[in-house]
Amino acid sequence: MGLRPPAACLRIDGRGADATLAGLHRNEEDAKVATNVRINGQRLWDSLMEMAKIGATEKGGNCRLALTDLDRQGRDLFVRWCREAGCTVTVDRIGNIFARRPGKDNSLPPVMTGSHLDTQPTGGKFDGVYGVLAGLEVVRTLNDTNSETLAPVEVAVWTNEEGSRFAPAMVASGVFGGVFDLDYALSRADVDGKTMGEELQRIGYAGEAEVGGRPVAAFFEAHIEQGPILEAERKTIGVVQGVQGIRWFEVTLIGQEAHAGPTPMRRRKDALLGASRMVQEVNRIGLENLPHACATVGMMQVHPNSRNVIPGRVFLTVDFRHPDEKVLAGMAETLEKSARDIADEIGLILDFKEIWHSPPVKFAPECVAAVRAGAEEMGLPSMDIISGAGHDAVYVSRVAPTAMIFVPCENGISHNEIENATPEDLAAGCDVLLRAITARANAVAQR
Ligand SMILES: [Zn+2]
Repeated sequence: MGLRPPAACLRIDGRGADATLAGLHRNEEDAKVATNVRINGQRLWDSLMEMAKIGATEKGGNCRLALTDLDRQGRDLFVRWCREAGCTVTVDRIGNIFARRPGKDNSLPPVMTGSHLDTQPTGGKFDGVYGVLAGLEVVRTLNDTNSETLAPVEVAVWTNEEGSRFAPAMVASGVFGGVFDLDYALSRADVDGKTMGEELQRIGYAGEAEVGGRPVAAFFEAHIEQGPILEAERKTIGVVQGVQGIRWFEVTLIGQEAHAGPTPMRRRKDALLGASRMVQEVNRIGLENLPHACATVGMMQVHPNSRNVIPGRVFLTVDFRHPDEKVLAGMAETLEKSARDIADEIGLILDFKEIWHSPPVKFAPECVAAVRAGAEEMGLPSMDIISGAGHDAVYVSRVAPTAMIFVPCENGISHNEIENATPEDLAAGCDVLLRAITARANAVAQR
């Protein structure tokens, strides 16, 4: 598939592996991966294709729902590969798997990477799986080059990221991040009433390790973008800055129903007129906060919704999104003030409430910088990007400095059997991951 020839470029030239990656580095250069080291793109691709055979669908996708027999097979394959790569494998009580490659100083907290192996019912071969197997490929490359990191490196598989069989999504990384209780997660049930706890027991992945509660030096998640931006911008690497915040509002405007004929224009209390001004205002606030803002009125109910009655009551929803909490707060403030002004002007009663607030996640600067540096070192075209979707990294970021690496996927399509990514882009993302992990695992002096 036109991949880089693997074996020839796996060895570190010049100073040799020990001098390059040894923990007792004398300067910054010594903490880095030698510039000519590449992960083995063919091996990564082959592993992805091997994993994709488990739960393969007719249309070329994957169906490997969390904690099914197929999920167990996928987990077993991953665990076997990790043991073959010399890792010790730990499973925690919610079934998260951690494959650990020792460092020079194993008292140091590990640098962690990973994602999920479960898929949607009509999922693709890359969503989640890429992040897991890219982590494994990093370990294999470190082995090939006899590289020793100062801190240990761990590859994580988070249970039930998709939330397809058991809601909510990202529940096990959520327990790790302190967002959900363990008992809550274990008691999540599928449509047949089988709980996560029972199913973990059944497939043999109810581990003994406590969930979380241990220090993690850094967490990196490589993932396909699941959106169209990188492809459109012709960039190979998305340096993910964070995940956007969301605020939802419900607005009710109450005026007075009246006959459309005898009621003079200047005497009306038209709730729909107020609502239409709100729609304009929401759009204006979105445009005013570009490039990152999204602002939508997606639902409206007009009462009584009769052609010859002046609308007396309108209910509408507002969806605001922005990666910066302060900007998001400013947008909300402007909206509320505008709503009051509009209501006053038309003589309407306003009921304005916020019903949901999911704060933005801003990834750790030192981890984002490590991703950017990795892309630069590789000479790869990259851009800063904000994740529109949730990932395990969102919850892990509560307890560890975190960043993500995005690679393009074909037409931005994901959660679909036709989901696709090129071997070259996947390899490039993994090369960046190798550099980011190595940099943080050797950065103990800065901690
Ligand atoms: Zn995913």
